[in-house]
Amino acid sequence: MVRFIEENITKMFISKSEVLCSRGNDGDTSAATKVLHDFQINDENVVGGGLIRSWVDSMRACSPTHLNSFNNQSCWIEEHPSALNMFEEIVHESEGKQIVMFLDYDGTLSPIVDDPDRAFMSKKMRNTVKKLAMCFPTAIVSGRSREKVYGFVKLTELYYAGSHGMDIKGPEKGSKYQKKNRSLLCQPATEFLPVITEVYKNLVEKTKSIPGAKVENNKFCACVHFRCVDENKWSYLAHLVRSVLKNYPKLMLSQGRKVLEIRPVIEWDKGKALEFLLESLGYTNCTDVFPIYIGDDRTDEDAFKILRDKRQGLGILVSKYAKETNASYSLQEPDEVMDFLERLVEWKQLTCGA
Ligand SMILES: [Mg+2]
Repeated sequence: MVRFIEENITKMFISKSEVLCSRGNDGDTSAATKVLHDFQINDENVVGGGLIRSWVDSMRACSPTHLNSFNNQSCWIEEHPSALNMFEEIVHESEGKQIVMFLDYDGTLSPIVDDPDRAFMSKKMRNTVKKLAMCFPTAIVSGRSREKVYGFVKLTELYYAGSHGMDIKGPEKGSKYQKKNRSLLCQPATEFLPVITEVYKNLVEKTKSIPGAKVENNKFCACVHFRCVDENKWSYLAHLVRSVLKNYPKLMLSQGRKVLEIRPVIEWDKGKALEFLLESLGYTNCTDVFPIYIGDDRTDEDAFKILRDKRQGLGILVSKYAKETNASYSLQEPDEVMDFLERLVEWKQLTCGA
């Protein structure tokens, strides 16, 4: 069931990419944007109700009670073995290459909690990430606004890519990998700031009657959290969100873990952010770099796919349950992520005296 739903949603997203790739060389995206908007939002008869049903079914299917019935768990673990169990193989594969670390935040460094404003990471995890950044260039890649995720992590020596990679900034200080006199900043969706602010306000107004619904402004994108909403109201809430988005042809909707994301229609995602950061670090087209990306969400798949397609480095999905993924390995929860990062630090210190 999970496979069926995710395959169908993936097909929708592949169609979206095809539409976007068809734009002309003059950079005019208006026609492509219109097609995508019609495809995703306006055409009630073709996609509308069906898309909402897919979102809601997929959110339900991702809850643990449903996933427990997924009978391919052992097969999936064979295909995506634990990165802890495969640690020696992973570091062997990275030999002679510069490891670069990319870490999602929610569900990867912090546990998923009901109130997204209280998704704190533990002090122990913060210390681990701090040590990690002394050994390898390290970036946090999150759907949250850059400022908000920095407020949780509080480490100045990291790269931060907020708003699904649409807001990237280099370390303020303390990173030996930051090139001198070069301040790094990438904001490919700046023109969308006013419209995101406006749609955020409209979503707050439209959803205020639904108990538990929470709208979050993530600067270059926004999202509506379903986690604390009665499951019986999920379809109605999704319809409300979609009704607001009908008025914004340059925005698109996508679905995450009990959340609907509202993003600008631009060709930028966590995968593009990964490529941009590797390029900024001087590793464009390098064969001696080994990126490791760890994340738990559908939006992290864009980065996993880049690594898989390039056959460079590896992706690690954080999940207790079988899921369709482009990641090569798995870890079950943030505690296992911390163990894996600790082992990487110890290995680096032992082998290279970092
Ligand atoms: Mg996450």
